[in-house]
Amino acid sequence: METVLKRYFKHDRFRAGQKDIIASVLAGRDTVAILPTGGGKSICYQLPSYLLPEGLTVILSPLLSLIEDQVMQIKSRGERSVAKLTSHETKDQKEQILRHLSQLRYLYLSPEQLAMPNVKQRLQQTNINLFVVDEAHCISQWGHEFRPEYAKLGIVKKQLGNPTCLALTATATKQVEQDMLRGLELSDPTIIRHSVNRPEIQFIVEDVEPDQKDHVLVNWLTKVERPCVIYTTTRNEAERVARLITKATYYHAGLEAEDRQLIQQQFLHDEIECLVCTSAFGMGVNKGNVRTVIHYSMPATIEAYMQEVGRAGRDGEPSTALLLYAKGDHRLQQFLVEKQYAPVLWIDQLLAGMARQEPLETMERRLGLDVEDPAYRLLKSQLSDRWSRENIIAWQEERKKIRLRELMQMINYIQSITCRRTFILNHFDEQPIVQDRCCDICGNTTTQSPQKRHTIEILDWEQRLEEVFFSSADSV
Ligand code: ADP
Repeated sequence: METVLKRYFKHDRFRAGQKDIIASVLAGRDTVAILPTGGGKSICYQLPSYLLPEGLTVILSPLLSLIEDQVMQIKSRGERSVAKLTSHETKDQKEQILRHLSQLRYLYLSPEQLAMPNVKQRLQQTNINLFVVDEAHCISQWGHEFRPEYAKLGIVKKQLGNPTCLALTATATKQVEQDMLRGLELSDPTIIRHSVNRPEIQFIVEDVEPDQKDHVLVNWLTKVERPCVIYTTTRNEAERVARLITKATYYHAGLEAEDRQLIQQQFLHDEIECLVCTSAFGMGVNKGNVRTVIHYSMPATIEAYMQEVGRAGRDGEPSTALLLYAKGDHRLQQFLVEKQYAPVLWIDQLLAGMARQEPLETMERRLGLDVEDPAYRLLKSQLSDRWSRENIIAWQEERKKIRLRELMQMINYIQSITCRRTFILNHFDEQPIVQDRCCDICGNTTTQSPQKRHTIEILDWEQRLEEVFFSSADSV
């Protein structure tokens, strides 16, 4: 195993958990691996391919950006036998890939692509040596990122002849873990769980007056170390906050893919000190030296919070997670929970149209439904599975309750009067840990000296980023 690690991945030794996961997969056992973000999950499914009998490793991933990033990384280490089936490939390109599956080592695709009859059919005729479900928490209705297509993966896996399955995630409560086992119909799996604790991160929450938030943020930025990531909930907020800060830029899904790529690269190469972004930033971004993650707005769940703060301190050096909370901040998240589910009016209109046998595309146009809207996508998948009106409404109500309960847990974290690390570990059913440099409640956080201002040279990339880059001297 070490020889393969060195030869193909250029690493000298395995990180915690990797070897156990790979050994389990090589022994043909279904495996659930819960490793923190940055723990090195990719190797756990990429390495076995060199040691297993010939066959295709199929990787299910929820996000196009994640897929593209992984494929790029595999190619950059010289491995050419990799392909992806996403919305970016043309019909011809897809057909070409499907015709040559047996020559591939890795195939990345989303559960939606896998569900397509021609894809499934071709894969049924292919020898699959490993079926990987990345971000496997998406399978659980209790998880923070439930995806209905993920819930069907157990059935699809069976249709593909039940290959060995590896389910990977960074965060999973015991309940989500149970859902992964059940949903993927894993038989006697090995479960490898590593603590969600990130000892190098200190946790701080600051209560602020709503009209003082900008001021408090700018103040903190004189104290905390950079590089720094600042998370906001909305795109507008990301843009506005970026304007407050010297040498900051913003990043969100509304930017052109090219700009996003460029900003990401500049941040990776320490050319941007402070990135103000929505949750669109982060997945697949491998930057070791992020010193501070600030939440200007609260996230919706502890899981999302841990995933986002997990981008700090990947190099193991002391880092800070700061959350600014102003009274009423949770209302935006509450509103967003509501928005994730289709209004009853849509359900009625679509059911009426379906009863008249009106084609879906015509209805979408007539009712002005956005096919990219997750609320509509969810409803569409339920309608195509022939759910009744009552079942859809009851299910949505139940889901909303779960989401609001998750939001409540996040509020409880913010208002916690006991150790924040303990709160998080409790949430993930882990034992408390006592450590130095823990949290603002324990009172042993380090106070950084005010950051020295650098003289920042005008670099040519700044000119290229003129549209999206802000440089103002009115603060900090
Ligand atoms: P995850 O998917 O768990 O967030 P990745 O698989 O993207 O993490 O790996 C994170 C980083 O760690 C990558 O840059 C990868 O090259 C590196 N890495 C993974 N395993 C090892 C190892 N055994 N030794 C050194 N670096 C590793």
